[in-house]
Amino acid sequence: MKHVYTFSEAQGLGKDQLGGKGAGLAAMTALGLPVPPGFTVTTDACRSYYMHRQTPVNLWQDVQDALQQLEHQTGKQFGNPERPLLLSVRSGARFSMPGMMDTILNLGLTDEVVAGLATLTGDARFAQDAYRRLIQMFGDVVVGIPRHHFETALEDLKASREVHSDLGLTAEDLTELVATYKRIFKRHAGFEFPQSPQFQLQEAILAVFKSWGNRRAATYRKLHHIPDDLGTAANVQVMVFGNLGETSGTGVGFTRNPNSGQKEIFGEFLLNAQGEDVVAGIRTPLPLSDLKKHLPEVYEQLMTTAQLLEDHFRDMQDFEFTIEDGKLYMLQTRAGKRSARAAFRIARDLVQEGRITREEAVTRIELDALEQLLYPQPVPGHGKTPLLKALPASPGAAVGVVVFSADEAVEVAKEQPCILVTLETSPEDIHGMASAQGILTARGGMTSHAAVVARGMGCPAVVGADELRVDREAGLMKVRGQVIRAGETITLNGSTGEIFLGELPLQEGEVQEEVFELLCWADGIRQLEVRANADTPQDAERARNNGAQGIGLCRTEHMFFSEERIPLVRKMILAPTPQEELEALRDLQDLQRLDFEGILLAMDGLPVTVRLMDPPLHEFLPQLPELLVRVTQLSQQERSETEELEFQESSQLLERVRELHEVNPMMGLRGARLGITRPSIICMQVHALARATRDLLSRGKRPRPEIMIPLTGTGEEMAYVRHIVEEVLASHDLHLPIGSMIEVPRACLVGGQLASNADFLSFGTNDLTQMTYGYSRDDAARFLGTYVEKGILQFDPFTRLDEDGVGSLIRLAVQDARRKAPHIKLGVCGEHGGEKHSIAFFHQVGLDYVSCSPFRLLSARLAAAHAAL
Ligand code: ADP
Ligand code: MG
Ligand code: MG
Repeated sequence: MKHVYTFSEAQGLGKDQLGGKGAGLAAMTALGLPVPPGFTVTTDACRSYYMHRQTPVNLWQDVQDALQQLEHQTGKQFGNPERPLLLSVRSGARFSMPGMMDTILNLGLTDEVVAGLATLTGDARFAQDAYRRLIQMFGDVVVGIPRHHFETALEDLKASREVHSDLGLTAEDLTELVATYKRIFKRHAGFEFPQSPQFQLQEAILAVFKSWGNRRAATYRKLHHIPDDLGTAANVQVMVFGNLGETSGTGVGFTRNPNSGQKEIFGEFLLNAQGEDVVAGIRTPLPLSDLKKHLPEVYEQLMTTAQLLEDHFRDMQDFEFTIEDGKLYMLQTRAGKRSARAAFRIARDLVQEGRITREEAVTRIELDALEQLLYPQPVPGHGKTPLLKALPASPGAAVGVVVFSADEAVEVAKEQPCILVTLETSPEDIHGMASAQGILTARGGMTSHAAVVARGMGCPAVVGADELRVDREAGLMKVRGQVIRAGETITLNGSTGEIFLGELPLQEGEVQEEVFELLCWADGIRQLEVRANADTPQDAERARNNGAQGIGLCRTEHMFFSEERIPLVRKMILAPTPQEELEALRDLQDLQRLDFEGILLAMDGLPVTVRLMDPPLHEFLPQLPELLVRVTQLSQQERSETEELEFQESSQLLERVRELHEVNPMMGLRGARLGITRPSIICMQVHALARATRDLLSRGKRPRPEIMIPLTGTGEEMAYVRHIVEEVLASHDLHLPIGSMIEVPRACLVGGQLASNADFLSFGTNDLTQMTYGYSRDDAARFLGTYVEKGILQFDPFTRLDEDGVGSLIRLAVQDARRKAPHIKLGVCGEHGGEKHSIAFFHQVGLDYVSCSPFRLLSARLAAAHAAL
């Protein structure tokens, strides 16, 4: 099996084998772009390395053959001091994992070769600079020597020479630095820096394979749900040098603005710099537009190339380039990471430009992106002056206390929201970045590690705050003399780059027009209807504005919990005579009629599923223990007149609460059971609904109520309640759809029986999950966390539908129901109706609609479209 492909051979092999970087290099080579030659060792080799703990046979021979081709092509030779060939070894997995894997530059340098390189280029400074970078990177990546040992040595040298930038160091300084680095290397590695280029190359490739398994990479994969068994490819490439003086440089760019999505080239570069200098935020880079001044021809070529890349890949690209002595080389291209806002804008624009179809555009929008847009922003008009303003690296606002290290962020975040403030971030900080509400860095540009990672996580970030001095040891930061200590609260606005002292009130983000455009396209694609769970006219209105096609669940009892109504409800429950009950019910009916009217009006023309009374009655009464305490208290003291009255009432109430008390109320007298044993309540509700409907009809409106019976588990139960409801409706000369809410496992097993007595079935997946697992919804939080942590559950089944268990029941019910009643309408209400994986499942089993809370509607519309694509 072939494991090694040169960039020109590799064209047509997919990302699965070449990894993203390798595929990009092959594609650019095929497009005729100036790519330094090289070859890719495929992910197969990495997988086989993990499987058999050794590289495939012949791998090193194949690498040698490919290397010979490079030597032939370039006229240089690996390890030959007269005409040295230097290489980079770069990892690249199927999915781009910024900063997660490690790259080694300048491989092939040894004491002997570095001397040759100096003579050849006439630039000893350059040669020594390249060598010290190799020793550091090789030390870091292959041997695992912590980078700060090298960095400290460099800082010390700069301090002793009184220079601020690396560029201030002379050839002699760097020669001295190389000697220091070699000592550091030996001290930590236990052996000298290897003087065999072949050994360097093999070890570097192996290190790339190993880096797939390192903790940073594993964390990133976990965070982004990337499978662990894909493996990475290793790309070996001829080095080009951006550090050969002022006509050389290195940079990164985006073909469109990754924050706003605007169509403009966006990026940064540094002159006389190599490798990751730009991304690492070591020197503050210049905007790409400045390249025009410095190297106009290269700039033009770069612009043309960017366009070519975008045309070819039909998506916004993120590219890396190096200029060696006035000549442009392309080093990488990939679909660029972008903010949520930009994702919508770019997808919309590409459709308008005729590059992609609407379906493609919808596919490309990740659900997370949409959810990010709903992130908060400071309420406008706060009038506060920012403490500082820097680069708006990742949109959204956050409030939190200041912490100065990743570990601290993890700790503090357990208690309260925090903002991570650092000089810059590196992949070691990932865990802290994931815990923090926001990120602020003193260094780095829009493409720095902090910026890229924060955008990916949807975590607000502000970077490159020049005025900021961070003193981690002392636990404080300074801005123009002002001191802010760890634990103080700040507000960060990643959309504007502003930082404020103290807490600003935040509000939900605004959703711009492209979002609605894309969601409309999504609506054209999806097959699932999307409804909302709404209990008030306000909720109904919000739902309608967010595109709800009706209400899938209106919980009528929620209307009973308000302060004015609870006494009425209690009066009804406690009524000693049927006459008094009737009076209370009549009052309630009038109120409930108004509720229904409001909701039906807000949803005029769209279906509104009204669920009849569900919870056990004692939920409306005071809690037994509290009541008991109060009555005991009053009984043991001297009572004033008012207290005497309270005592009498409370004692009576206590009596009744005791009667209604249930050991296990969630499985007790509620839902259909309540409707059957105490029909007066649901009759009142149906009357109220019927009157509201009649009223609206007479006003020329189009109310479309549907009535849902909760917690039905047998066909007889359903038939019985249905009959009651129909009689009431008939008294208003109305005929409305009546459905069954499927919440107990038995209902799923006899789906057909229920379907025979219903016009629609709606799965109440919250209760259904509770009863299928036997996990109490209200108590499960105690152990669910541990279960997920220990891998006993993959996820919380109350958040995401358990397809294996609960899903099987749903499937059974759907099949049986459709057999008995082929045209019955099937839906789902409950938290799962707004969750993407669950939505995909509901689409797959062929439900007609999902219903979710109004603020999840936009996500649900998109998720339903994704499910259909
Ligand atoms: P990452 O995946 O972190 O982006 P890369 O493999 O792209 O890592 O390497 C990081 C940087 O190293 C590149 O952006 C580029 O500047 C530099 N680099 C890699 N290969 C070469 C090369 N052949 N010549 C010059 N610079 C290189
Ligand atoms: Mg890297
Ligand atoms: Mg790169």
